[in-house]
Amino acid sequence: MKILLTGGAGFIGSAVVRLIINSTNHSVINIDKLTYAGNLESLQSVVDSERYCFEQVDICDSEKINLIFSKYQPDVVMHLAAESHVDRSIDGPADFIETNIVGTYQLLDAAKNYWNSLAEQKKSSFRFHHISTDEVYGDLENPEDLFTEETPYSPSSPYSASKASSDHLVRAWNRTYGLPTVITNCSNNYGPFHFPEKLIPLMIINAINGKPLPVYGNGHQIRDWLYVEDHARALMKVISEGEEGKTYNIGGHNEKRNIDVVNLICDLLEKHKPEKPKGIIRYHDLITFVDDRPGHDLRYAIDASKIENELGWKPKETFESGIEKTILWYLSNSDWWQRVLDGSYSLERLGKGE
Ligand code: NAD
Repeated sequence: MKILLTGGAGFIGSAVVRLIINSTNHSVINIDKLTYAGNLESLQSVVDSERYCFEQVDICDSEKINLIFSKYQPDVVMHLAAESHVDRSIDGPADFIETNIVGTYQLLDAAKNYWNSLAEQKKSSFRFHHISTDEVYGDLENPEDLFTEETPYSPSSPYSASKASSDHLVRAWNRTYGLPTVITNCSNNYGPFHFPEKLIPLMIINAINGKPLPVYGNGHQIRDWLYVEDHARALMKVISEGEEGKTYNIGGHNEKRNIDVVNLICDLLEKHKPEKPKGIIRYHDLITFVDDRPGHDLRYAIDASKIENELGWKPKETFESGIEKTILWYLSNSDWWQRVLDGSYSLERLGKGE
């Protein structure tokens, strides 16, 4: 397959690109605007492949997106480009509306025009795979409840509302225009190359640097964690075997309270990096409770039985194995995150060098 993938310089997109190049024969065209979250250094292991190419394009730029479709003639689209950080969506929702809603519309429209021009065989195998989040479902009240593909949408934050809107657009393009779409809604991801504003990398890096570990409210919010490489494998299953017009939930069966995640990170750092910055006795002493985020959802948990039963996907990592791998990765790849923290990754990608 020739895969047109948006957002490939981001956390999950780069994991999918690495999986495609390292473990399949498919080729990939990575379309990314390179916002603060886009980091080409996450793709160093694949840039020399003849099956990889990169175009710095904003998905909201319809003219350029139409040109990309006619230039590359992709077999499928995997759409991951988005503004993705809930806190940023609360401080400044405009970029979320623009990229996640308007950008998805522009991409759908370009995909529809291109798809209409295809010969019958290529037309029927074409897929527009929209990658979304379980946050569109809102939060769960009863401890035994799980999000299924039928759970009504009830987003709480500007981020999740913009993703919910984009999911609705994708379904409308399927129902109204017949565009062969598929949607996946996944739980919280973690793993290597994760931008250090998100909970897990922030805690690991702050602890290594002897900085406070800020936990929202009482830390009892529950998230269902999935190792990013397991998500990438699920996405490849769906793009290859997923049924047109369907939605698949993806999750790791790893419900954890935020405070328990932070405590586990501290325990594992005690094991793997017992020498600490001056003045720090225990990593746990760095934990600091801060005012809760407005509209903070209490619990997310995914029922992933549909993708497991219909497509035979299962996560390989437990939370315990995945978090240990992640911590070891951050300990041995400080160059990657130091360059994110000091901003040099973005100077280089803008051609300004160091
Ligand atoms: P990310 O923020 O790490 O990466 C997003 C990428 O999109 C970046 O490379 C950025 O440069 C690019 N981008 C942003 N705006 C763009 C635009 N207008 N045009 C082109 N490129 C643009 O995000 P992520 O965590 O890798 O998430 C990827 C997708 O998966 C998102 O759609 C997100 O909603 C979804 N998702 C994320 C999680 C998670 O836990 N991170 C869970 C479920 C679903």
